[in-house]
Amino acid sequence: MSHKILIVEDNTNNCTLLLDILTFHGYEVLVARDGQEGVVLARKQMPDLILMDIQMPGMDGMTAGRILKNDPTNSKLKIIALTSFAMQGDQEKFLAAGFDGYLSKPINTREIPGLIEQWLNEEKLP
Ligand SMILES: [Mg+2]
Repeated sequence: MSHKILIVEDNTNNCTLLLDILTFHGYEVLVARDGQEGVVLARKQMPDLILMDIQMPGMDGMTAGRILKNDPTNSKLKIIALTSFAMQGDQEKFLAAGFDGYLSKPINTREIPGLIEQWLNEEKLP
């Protein structure tokens, strides 16, 4: 069975790019366009990995990530923060908030399949 990945991203270009790469690599891909929709889809679908944009209109990724991580029924979901170049210094903040990793934008299309594989195979820390 292929792994299920949820993309939460408001930027259409990034969204399409990620969708194309992940679909090409055989993953089942779900898409949400803001944090609110992301939280709902994550709870309903329980994906193996969530790629969560941080800057989104409405509910941002930090808030959505915290909501999921603070709820014991879905706190084990793996969530990777999609951060912009401007946030380079803030990456510790995402890990402190419970995110399982971060990916800097612009997205490196050659790098991403390996990273996804690595995150999927990583044992969750208790
Ligand atoms: Mg955004």
